[in-house]
Amino acid sequence: MTKRKSDIVIVGAGIAGCILALALHPHYHVVVIDKQAQAQEKVGECLPPTASRVLRKLHLSHLLQSSEHTTSHGMVSFWGSDYPTIVDNVKNPDGLGWHLHRQHFEQQLRDELARRGISLLSSAKVAGITKADMDWQVQVTSQKSQSELTTQLLIDATGRSCHIARQLGAKLVLSDKQMALWLTAPVATSKQLAVISDETHGWWYSAPSAAYLSQNTGMQTRVFSWQAPAEIIKRSGIADVDGFLTRARQVKGFSTLVDLVNRQGARLHPMVSANSARLERCAADGWFAVGDAGMSFDPLSSQGMLHAMNSSMQLAEILVAHGLRSTLATELYQSQMDRVWARYLEHRQYFYHGTTLA
Ligand SMILES: Cc1cc2nc3c(=O)[nH]c(=O)nc-3n(C[C@H](O)[C@H](O)[C@H](O)COP(=O)(O)OP(=O)(O)OC[C@H]3O[C@@H](n4cnc5c(N)ncnc54)[C@H](O)[C@@H]3O)c2cc1C
Repeated sequence: MTKRKSDIVIVGAGIAGCILALALHPHYHVVVIDKQAQAQEKVGECLPPTASRVLRKLHLSHLLQSSEHTTSHGMVSFWGSDYPTIVDNVKNPDGLGWHLHRQHFEQQLRDELARRGISLLSSAKVAGITKADMDWQVQVTSQKSQSELTTQLLIDATGRSCHIARQLGAKLVLSDKQMALWLTAPVATSKQLAVISDETHGWWYSAPSAAYLSQNTGMQTRVFSWQAPAEIIKRSGIADVDGFLTRARQVKGFSTLVDLVNRQGARLHPMVSANSARLERCAADGWFAVGDAGMSFDPLSSQGMLHAMNSSMQLAEILVAHGLRSTLATELYQSQMDRVWARYLEHRQYFYHGTTLA
């Protein structure tokens, strides 16, 4: 068993975990742990223009220049209407947004950890956590080895599972039971616009996922995703690509896109959680939760990745200003997250007001 010491252990090398590690690295010794050997394919690809501010601060703007990502011109919205409204990014003071190749972006962040000398223990799991005096003892197992990390601070960046915080006794509060069923497919269009549309019990979106955008063939890969309560999705009986696309074709504003899908290359993915949820507390004695681990939003907000970045930057600033053992740091971060949640609920109410989705 190897024994190591670090100031901070971050569990989860998604966007939140990597951004936090990169922001803290100049000030503290950080170790990151992730159960996956490499970044995985995920739904969630629309990165709003303001995210460029965070990436600039961390000298990461070059990551978005990769040819795997493409710029987002905005969105065509059929929300609450049979007629389209265009919400464009052209007038946005931060410039255009992005349609990310999500897996590639997360791998870029992991590679950046390595380039800056931050330890990432991948294919590794937290097998146990104990507290001795003021420090945490974290037992980590991987295929190759077992180690014990002693650390002052533990960060949960494990996404919606909030695995660490729950293990430490934190309570997860669910606001609803929305799930998402999603499909990726080559589509014969070059439009760099997302489309959203509501229906009686849920809503749909489609966006380029940039992954295999090919100028030669004129095809792009797009995500199509249906958000609705789990029981409605299950009751639909959709079990394959054809079933999904038949349903998608009936959605306002989707028929032209669906007709351009190359069905041979389409893949239907397992259902994932897409509800609003938060930890009763995002910070307590010696631990903090960032990104989806602390609070996860309805994808309608398109704010998940931005929140992953912003919550991590906010926490990094607090820890640099107040140190790792400060109760003021815990209270400051908690009150910031409470404000984020209150604002999120206001926006959610604004969009869903008067619909069956409220
Ligand atoms: C249908 C859908 C559409 C979405 N669309 C968008 C969008 O367009 N724009 C947007 O900004 N957001 C979108 N989101 C939300 C966005 O994807 C999330 O908010 C974002 O992934 C949160 O990042 P994170 O780093 O907090 O968590 P995650 O991305 O979940 O990363 C968690 C990391 O922790 C690791 N991990 C988990 N458990 C453990 C464990 N026990 N031990 C070790 N490692 C562990 C995982 O391997 C992973 O690397 C969407 C979400 C859904 C469901």
